[in-house]
Parts: sequence; C-alpha cells; structure tokens
Amino acid sequence: MLVPFGRGHRRTTLRLVSWLLCSVIASAVASAQDRPDPELLASITTIRAVDDHSHPLPARNPGATAAIPADPLGTSPPFFSVRQRETNPEWIEAWRALYGYPHRDASAEHVRDAFSAKQRVMLEKGTNYPAWILDQAGIEFVLVNAPRLGLGQTEPRFRWVPYADGFLFPFPVADLPLNPQPRRVEVGLDKAPPPWADYLASVSSRLRQWKASGAVAIKFTIAYYRSLDFARTAEADAKNIYDRYLQDGAAQPPDYRTTDYKTLQDFLFRHVVREAGRAGLAVHVHTGEGGGPVFGVAGSNPLLLDSVVNDFSLSQTTFVLVHGGFPFDRAVVALIQKPNVYADLSAQTFFRSRHDLSETLRLWLWAFPEKILFGTDAFTNTALRGWEEMTWLATRSGREALALALTQMIAAGDMTRPRAAEVARMVLRDNAIRLYKLTP
Ligand SMILES: [Zn+2]
Repeated sequence: MLVPFGRGHRRTTLRLVSWLLCSVIASAVASAQDRPDPELLASITTIRAVDDHSHPLPARNPGATAAIPADPLGTSPPFFSVRQRETNPEWIEAWRALYGYPHRDASAEHVRDAFSAKQRVMLEKGTNYPAWILDQAGIEFVLVNAPRLGLGQTEPRFRWVPYADGFLFPFPVADLPLNPQPRRVEVGLDKAPPPWADYLASVSSRLRQWKASGAVAIKFTIAYYRSLDFARTAEADAKNIYDRYLQDGAAQPPDYRTTDYKTLQDFLFRHVVREAGRAGLAVHVHTGEGGGPVFGVAGSNPLLLDSVVNDFSLSQTTFVLVHGGFPFDRAVVALIQKPNVYADLSAQTFFRSRHDLSETLRLWLWAFPEKILFGTDAFTNTALRGWEEMTWLATRSGREALALALTQMIAAGDMTRPRAAEVARMVLRDNAIRLYKLTP
C-alpha cells in the first residue's frame, strides 16, 4: 500500500524510526544477555580451577603399547544424551586443542589420526600426562573418585576420594543385576563379618586410615542401589537385624532391597557419615539423575537427605551434593543454606547446555555463592571420548555458563561487576580450597 505524502507520512516515518530504534536496543539487550560478557569470560578463563568430582584415567604404563582400535570413537547406547554421543562435533575441537588433530571432521579414516595423535602425546608426556591434561584445561587440583589413585595421579594436584558404599553392605547380597560386591571389596569387606561393635569400630578405623593416606572426602553412589531416604533408626533395631544375618551365616545371602536390609543401611549410613566428619573427611553423595536405563531418579532427590543434614549428631560432617541434584536443582537452594551442605556442578557442566546451566547458577549464586563448587565428572567412555576430552569440554562450558550467569546478573542489577569477578573465583576454586584445605 502506498503511504500518502504529507503530515501522515512524517508520523509514519517517526513511528517506523522509533520502532526500529526500540528493536535495535531490544536485540542489543537480548544479545548481551544471551552471550557472556567477553571481558568477564576472558578473566574467568584465567582462573585455575578445582575440579570437585572426576574419575581420571591414570597415565599409561610406559612399556605398554596400544593398537589402534577398529572404532576408536565407538557408538553410544540409546540412553546417552546428545552431548555424550559420538556425533557431538565438540570432540573434534577437543582433539584439535589437546593433540593437534589437523582435521575438522570425524570421518572413520580421520579418527584414526586422532587416536595416533593422542597416543603420541601420551607417550611423550609419560607419567606427567594426567597433570598435563589438567594444565590444558586450566585446572590446578582435581578430586579423583576411584578406589585408588593411579600412575601419574600424585598429590598435591590429584586428591583421593574413595567410594564408601561398601560400608552399607556388611553382608554379601543376593546376586542382583547391580551387585555391590566390588564396592564391598574396596572397603575391605572380603572376610566373614565380625560382631556388631567390631564392625562399627572397623568402619571408623578404615576412615581414619584413608584420611591418613591423603583422602579428602568419601563418596556415596548409593542412589544407584536404593533411595536416599536414610531414616533415623535406633541402634538396637539395626543390631538385631545384623545379628540375625550373622547367625544365618552361610544361608542364602540377603536381598538388599528388603525392609530389614534398608533399616540396617539407614543406621550404617549415619554411622559412616558421622565418623567421616570426625576423621576430617567430607561426604560426597551422588544426587539427581544417574546413568543407565534403570536408575531410580525419584530416589535420588537431594530433599530425601533433609533429615540427615538436619541431624544434630552429624553437624561435624560436611555434605557435598554431587551433580547439584539436577533436575531437583531448585530444592538444592533450600539445602545449601545449611552450614554443612555444598553442591557441585559436576556432570551438569557436561550434560547440560551452557544456557540451561546458567539458569541454575543464577538461582544458586544469588543466594549462596560460597556453597557452589565447580566440577566435571569426567570419565572415560571410549578411546577418543575419554577423561581428557570430557575434562577439557566440561571445563570450557562450565566457565562459559558461569560467565553467562554472572553477565545476566550484572545486567539485572543483582550483582556488581567486581563482586561477579569475586564470585567466579569462589565457584571455580576458592570455595573448594577452603572446604578441603587444599595447599599446593
Ligand atoms: Zn562421577
């Protein structure tokens, strides 16, 4: 339609100009909030981080040789999310950054080059390889959740976090699909169970032994076996069940999914975490979604730990909600207000988008920035989707999500710029250094 020339035309032009101006301003504001402030991101990238939860691969034995696997990239099971899969183009960026991979694709032929390049770097770095990977990702300290530290994983940069789940299985259990037997062996339960009082004492002495060997925390992945609702239980009730199982001796091993085994575990969990606190070990608990097609998500809700973290007799124990309880991240705000409860970002830095994670961070950082710990949950899946690549990717996207959250908070007037810089340092390193008393 033609616009008539004259007064009306000027009005229309003015309207058009002001509409254009508004949309330019609106889109500038939107883009400022959708992308991290470049200066803030650059300064966050220089902060040497502490990775609160990881499962690093030890260095390769120098004498060992590795043949190129037929498919070094591998294929993923259906429950792997998009970012974990072999189709994620970010793996290519990691190989380029870490091993000098020259290609920009992951064709079957080229991934063999990525594997060879990675092997060359591993051989060249020798036992320094795991520490060199930390350098590339900008990580100073990493907490390694594993039965023991491996070759090249040495203090002060690599700190040990042993699994404690085995303590909750004092008796061999029926052979279920998720058999906790390896977890039992890790805590030394390879002999016939002792009388009740001796069992409780053996837990305390092993925790002190771990602390003396350099452990900074213990870790429970118990949500893979049962719900996190550890009820308050009288010792006499737990002891009765224990004594009955002890008398049954070599009879059919008990099923840990029964009410009695649960009651026994409810008591033992509180005993283990109380003794861990006394020994100076923090307690890591897997919270929120877990891997695999049969993980019980509802039982991993960190709110189920409410009565544990409110138990006055456990006030000496520090709890870390590993993986920040996602998708129950809003509930986490209510838990981290308690003086002895922290949450980490491990796995969230890898499995969620930067934008999505920044929303959780805004929620948490507004309320309790001193309780949030950076983490990766890096582990090895296949030869080219390993701990190294995951560490590099999760650290990069964790920094970006943090920078984005802080940029949005500055824009919203929730935080000043100097305070944002301070909070970034707290999340990436200072909170963890204070909590675990880490010294170089
Ligand atoms: Zn993990």
